[in-house]
Formats: sequence, structure tokens, C-alpha cells
Amino acid sequence: MDKTTALKKYFGYDSFRPLQAEIIDQILDKKDALVLMPTGGGKSICFQVPAMVMDGLTVVISPLIALMKDQVESLRANGIKASFLNSSISNDEQDAVFWAAKMGELKLLYIAPEKLFSGNMVENFKNLNITLFAIDESHCISSWGHDFRPEYRQLAIIKNEFPDVPVVALTATADKVTRRDICKQLQIPEENTYISSFDRPNISLEVLPGRKRLQQIQSFLNKVPNQSGIIYCLSRRSTETVAESLNKMGFKAEAYHAGISSEKRSRIQENFINDDTPIIVATIAFGMGIDKSNVRWIIHYNMPSNVESFYQEIGRAGRDGTPAQTTLFYSFADIITRTDMIKSSELPQEQKELMLAKLDRMKQYAEANICRRRILISYFNEDIGKDCGNCDVCKNPRKKFEATVIAQKALSAISRTQEKIALTMLVDILRGSRNQSVIRHGYDQLPTFGVGKDLKSEVWVDYILQLLNYGAFDIAYDEGHTFKLNEVSRQILKGQRKVEISEYISPSERQAAEEELLKRAPSKTEQVKGELFEKLRVLRKQIADAIGSPAYIVFSDATLVDMASKKPITKSQFLEVSGVGQEKFKRFGEAFMKEIFEFVNQNKEIASRMGKGLTQAVTFQMYQDGFSVEEIAQQRSIAQSTVISHLIKMKEDGNEIDLTKLIDSWDLNAIGDAAKELKVKKGDALKPLFEHFEGNVGYEKIRLALWLLDLA
Ligand code: ADP
Ligand code: ZN
Repeated sequence: MDKTTALKKYFGYDSFRPLQAEIIDQILDKKDALVLMPTGGGKSICFQVPAMVMDGLTVVISPLIALMKDQVESLRANGIKASFLNSSISNDEQDAVFWAAKMGELKLLYIAPEKLFSGNMVENFKNLNITLFAIDESHCISSWGHDFRPEYRQLAIIKNEFPDVPVVALTATADKVTRRDICKQLQIPEENTYISSFDRPNISLEVLPGRKRLQQIQSFLNKVPNQSGIIYCLSRRSTETVAESLNKMGFKAEAYHAGISSEKRSRIQENFINDDTPIIVATIAFGMGIDKSNVRWIIHYNMPSNVESFYQEIGRAGRDGTPAQTTLFYSFADIITRTDMIKSSELPQEQKELMLAKLDRMKQYAEANICRRRILISYFNEDIGKDCGNCDVCKNPRKKFEATVIAQKALSAISRTQEKIALTMLVDILRGSRNQSVIRHGYDQLPTFGVGKDLKSEVWVDYILQLLNYGAFDIAYDEGHTFKLNEVSRQILKGQRKVEISEYISPSERQAAEEELLKRAPSKTEQVKGELFEKLRVLRKQIADAIGSPAYIVFSDATLVDMASKKPITKSQFLEVSGVGQEKFKRFGEAFMKEIFEFVNQNKEIASRMGKGLTQAVTFQMYQDGFSVEEIAQQRSIAQSTVISHLIKMKEDGNEIDLTKLIDSWDLNAIGDAAKELKVKKGDALKPLFEHFEGNVGYEKIRLALWLLDLA
């Protein structure tokens, strides 16, 4: 089977997203790869499709036990043999899973790293026919990443133990340093790195001042009833108070944090996944293990600690690609709390500085005057080339001016100091401050020394940070936060690219602007989902409850949206819906087609708007449900001959239907003879034949006979 066939058959998708096909080819070529894609970008397909195309077993290493269960369940719903090994299952169960793997009965096996390195598992694995290792959340291997896990470090031995098995490492969050570290440790050649766009245009971005937060949340929630969402808080205590307040306001919300017993936590999580509890108020402990595609909004009640975490957290919204909304509440008090937390921690000094610098980038995001998506995307060393139009800054733009010359001054200072300086020194050089450090390095001799005397230092700081956020240069956290030139810098320096930034706003001016913003209701992406979507959603929930699975395992929101717009009522139409593969058609197709059919049948207006294709499909569906041609004609108020034409059309479209049953051989022969006698040819009118039989043989029979005799 080739990769495209596997994609359609098992996952129901027609085409690969950018880079998926290249990555899969690389793996099928037995080469290693590092894959960087944002959450919801479609990483899983990159190893799940090769797993189905290749013989043997794909081993997926994942640190998240809850995620494992979900992924295995989704795979099984798609008719794929998968299982997992981790501490949540008994020894007997583990033996059974291992045996199944050994017998070649599994295509994918998920395992937690601590399990892989326990006992003599690695040796045992050598007896399996492993064709691929996929290492999910691979940034956990690096202490430069934001989620370092010591047990992941051991994965460095995989290449030594299994030199012939290709390794694909995947992550949603890795800056340059982390990326290089992952490659080094897993022995993946750096040039085999695939970075897909980190842009998630369906997620709207918004920062609001962190005042009267509950009130703001209340007015937001009133606008999005029944939608699933997560509110992230900094402390356990605040998750509880916020959840309580929301309950008092009449919203169904539950708090979730690491202090809650693990049974209760998994119950809360299940309720969220199953759409029983729409709102979770959580610390960051929530979400890591969640693969729910219909989370519609995320609110950060407090400031996140870094851009990676923030992006990963908001990335949990809108995984299905349909519009999702995110809001960050920004308050300076949060920054101070976070700063104190870092400073008073037990971490080594170097690590503390790294975390403070990362917090600072988060602060810059919140304070930004330029398109917020640009900032997020440039953080991942990408350039989206235009403003997004789906963030609050784009929607309420601040006054901008052309700052190419300002940028050139800063960039040339960075260049002339061999990219060895950080923010403070850069400002000192530009402003011509003759302090000790400047003089010691001889920077006062540079031609750029003092070229920015005209601007105050806080203005320079603001502009430089805007330029950094714009992507005009990079910052190297592992080299004392020094500034590094990139491709965009070179274009600006050569005068090939113009830069616009926003005018400096003093803290008091900002305060006034925030007050203004607070008065305005937040603008929200419109939700285009109709009545049918709601019906399908209810049906999905019923089915999910009946089979004891989360709703999204049945179908994602994106699939329901596509289904509600295509309104399929036949097999071939149903298989055209994005996200419907063979297995899901078999298991759920009938129930959904019936629901759609009923909906369409009751809505004559919709039916007529959908035109011929639909009316034919309705006839076909009724015929399949056991109605006779006469009954269909009666119920639908159409001629019997029209019913026959519909069925003929459906047959021609490849649907299974035995038309010979509808006419006996005597009629068939008689019509055939008469047609010959009257020399009726393809496309002729039926009236002469009808008159020939003096009205005793109906038009529907004549039409059917001519078609069956190939005379129609
Ligand atoms: P990640 O692991 O990167 O967070 P997933 O693999 O869970 O993302 O994919 C996110 C969503 O996108 C899933 O619902 C998945 O089925 C869907 N998806 C992935 N690849 C495609 C594709 N080629 N076409 C359509 N949908 C896709
Ligand atoms: Zn924007």
C-alpha cells in the first residue's frame, strides 16, 4: 500500500499537510528525522502512516501515559492494531501486549521511557521486528527545553542498541538550541530536521488587562455556551477559587491541579474529554495528556512562564482546525510573582537566567504593539511575512512608523561587535554611553557609537524589543542572551526590506489605553455551525457514551463540520468527508447518514437548495430502507418514473443496487420488442411507447427497461 492510500483508508484524509509527505518518504527510506510541528500540526500521521505502510512494528516512546491511552484508542477506532506498555497496566496485561507484539499482531506499540529501560526490556525488544522508533515530545531529552525529563536522557542509547532501525523524533516546542541538542543526543543528522510552519491561523490571539478577570470571563462564557475550554491559573488555590466562582455564576467548571488525588484527576479529565464538563480551571498540570480536538477556547488567567509553554497551551485549542479563541490576562503582579518564583528556586544560576530571559520574552509578547502572531512565530525562528488579522493588535492597530533606519543602526551595532552583545550593551553603544564596559571593549571607537543619541534609553529598549519580536534578529540564550543576525537582518541591512514598528507608548499612556480596551467587548470569531451540526454533535455524544469512548474518538469537530456541510447520505458521499476512513464508515456511517437523511428530508428548503444530487440520494436512501418505488413516489410527491431515474443515476454513480428486481421479464421483453418495432433510440421521448401500450405500462417501467436494455 502506498502512503496516500493508507492516509485515505485508515484516517480518511485526501491529502498530506505540508511536510508530512516528505517526512514519511524519509522514514520509508530508513533515514532518521527530527520533526518540529506545532500542537495540532499533524505529527502523529508522520509515523502512523509509515507504520501502516511498512512491515513490522513501530515503537512510539511517549512520556505521557494518559495520551498513550487516547492515541491507542483513536488508532483502534480507525481499525489499526495498537497497544501500549506503561505502569498503568498489570504485569499479566503487559505480558499479553508483549506477546501480541512478538507474534506480529501489532502495528504500533506505545511505551513510556521508564518502562523501556526497566528490567531487560531493551534486550526483549531486540526480539521484536521493529521497523521504526518514534520519539514523541522529544524536547524532554534536552535540559535546554522547558520540560526536561531525566528518564528521557537514556534514549540516547537507542541508536547504539538498534543501529539499523530509523528514529523519528517529534516535538511541538524546540528553539534552535534544544533542536540541536535533540539531534546530538539521538544521533540524528541535523540536516534531517523538518520544521513545519508553527502558524495556527485558526486560533485567535488576544491580551487583556488582568483586572476584573472574573467579570470579563463571565461575559465571554455567556457568548460561548456548551463549548469546551480551559482556564490556566498559576496556583492551585486560584484554580479552586475561580472554579467555585464560575459555579456560582451557573457555569459547569471543575478545578484541576497536582494536589488532587490521581483517581479524581483522571475522572475530571475523562469528564472533560467526554464533553460532560465543559470548563476546566487548571494549573499547567492539565492538558499535557490531553488529545481532545474540540477544545474551543483557552484563557490564561495568569501569565505563563515562557512562550513555549504558552504556545503549547493555547495550541490545545482548535486542533481540529476550526476557529478557536484564546485570551491572556496580563498583569505586572504576575510577572513579579513568576520572577520571585524563579529567583528563589533551587535551580543552578545558569538555568535561572535562562528562565528569567524566557519570562521576559513572554512579557514582551503581552506588551507588544505589533501583530502578536508574528511574535509567536518569530520566536520559533519563522517569518510569516504578513500581519495575521486574527489578533487583538491586528484588529485594533496602534500607530506605526517606518523604522528601517532605526533597525539598521541597531543591526549594524550588533554586526560590528561580532554578535557578542546583549540588550544593555547595545543600548549603551547606540546612545553613546561612555561607561567602563563600553570603553574596555573599545566599543566607543565604533562608527555606530552614539548614532542613536536622539532617543531615550527606554525608547531604544522598546524599539529593540519590537525589532526582536518582529524577527529582525535572534537571541541566543545559551550565549549570554547575545543578539544574532539572521536572514531578515541581512535584508534590512542591505536595504532590501523595510521595517515598520509602533510608536513608543509610555507606561501612563499604556494604562489609559488598557482602560479603554477594558470598556470594549472583546471581538470574537464568528461560529458558523448550524442546526445539523448540533444534531450530529448530540448523536456523536450518544454513540461515544454507548461505546465508552470520548466523543472525538468517534469523529472530530472538523469532521462533523465537513459532514454538516456535505450532508452525505450514501456510502461514496460519506467516504468523501474529511476524517472518515474505512473503519469509521463501517462503525458509524449508517447512524450518521440516517440522522442527516432525516434532517434533510424534513427540510424541503435545504433539500431543494442541494439540488439533484441530494434528491437522488434521498430516493436511494429510502429505497435502501425498504420503501417501494410507489411508496417513495407518494411520500416525496414525485412521479414514479422520477424515482426510477434517481435510482438509475445512483447506480451509475457506483452504488450497489439491483435494478432488475424492479421489473419482471415479461414487461422487459415486451418493452424491448416494442422499442425495436417503433425504432426508439437512445435519448428519444418515452411517449410513443407509452401510447403503444395504451397507458397500461407506466413510464417508470419503460424508462427502466430501456436503461436495462441499454437503449436509454
Ligand atoms: P499533533 O500530534 O501534531 O499535535 P495530531 O497528529 O494530533 O497533531 O493532528 C491534529 C489533527 O489534525 C488531528 O485531528 C489529525 O487527525 C488532523 N490531521 C493530521 N494530518 C491531517 C491531514 N493530512 N489532513 C487532515 N487532517 C489531518
Ligand atoms: Zn495579528
